[in-house]
Amino acid sequence: MKKVLTIAGSDSSGGAGIQADLKAFSAHGVFGMSVITAVTAQNTQGVFAVQDIDVAVIDKQIEAIFDDIAVDAVKIGMVSRTETIKAIANGLKKYYAQNIVVDPVMISKSGYYLLHPEAVEALISYLMPLATVVTPNIPEAEEITGIKIDSLKDMEKAAAVIHQLGPKYVLLKGGHREEDATDILFDGESYQHLSTARIATKNTHGTGCTLSAAIAANLAKGYSAQEAVSQGKEYIHTAIEHSFAIGKGVGPVHHFY
Ligand code: PLP
Repeated sequence: MKKVLTIAGSDSSGGAGIQADLKAFSAHGVFGMSVITAVTAQNTQGVFAVQDIDVAVIDKQIEAIFDDIAVDAVKIGMVSRTETIKAIANGLKKYYAQNIVVDPVMISKSGYYLLHPEAVEALISYLMPLATVVTPNIPEAEEITGIKIDSLKDMEKAAAVIHQLGPKYVLLKGGHREEDATDILFDGESYQHLSTARIATKNTHGTGCTLSAAIAANLAKGYSAQEAVSQGKEYIHTAIEHSFAIGKGVGPVHHFY
């Protein structure tokens, strides 16, 4: 069985973060493992507290896994602060980790900062160069590039700038645009426009986490980056179609239906 690692934050409500990633891994038939970077207290209505995990403990989690287990792919989600980012980058380089998907998580849908604003620079310089696929949404791409994104042309421009930072593929997710939700996949040479119909639901908690975890699972299974992305998109589409309410706010996507 392929073994896939998520390096991310815990979501107590189970819809996003580590919990979403492990569910997506299981649904893909791969063995999921986790390095927890932060513990959040949250539910469907918001994030109420965050405790960053000590960097020495993050180092030890990475070491414990890679010293013993052959890791087929890694997904990186909430990384919170500069020291955490440096520890992850050093660990992944030390063990020559392959098939790395970086979801540059910055702010939750409920508006909570999951990445300290001063750590954006570290995310760019330490994690982007390690990525096979990076999966920013529009606000994240704007923050990384300084480009204001309104049109598909703007998305292409931003994807090109992000590609220059080192990832092999950039999947710029268009879900935040009002007109259409086309995503753009850029490999440094050509732009692929990936469109799917938007699903009318408020229950979209953990969509970004789930998509990047699905892409990592598909890379682990040996699919090319293009195939991993296109299958990941199909997976998240169906998971959103089956999303449901578990509390008073934004409910999670469904991994098993
Ligand atoms: N909590 C954690 C730990 C996360 O990693 C993320 C997103 O990556 C979120 C919350 C935010 O989820 P959403 O913006 O889908 O509500």
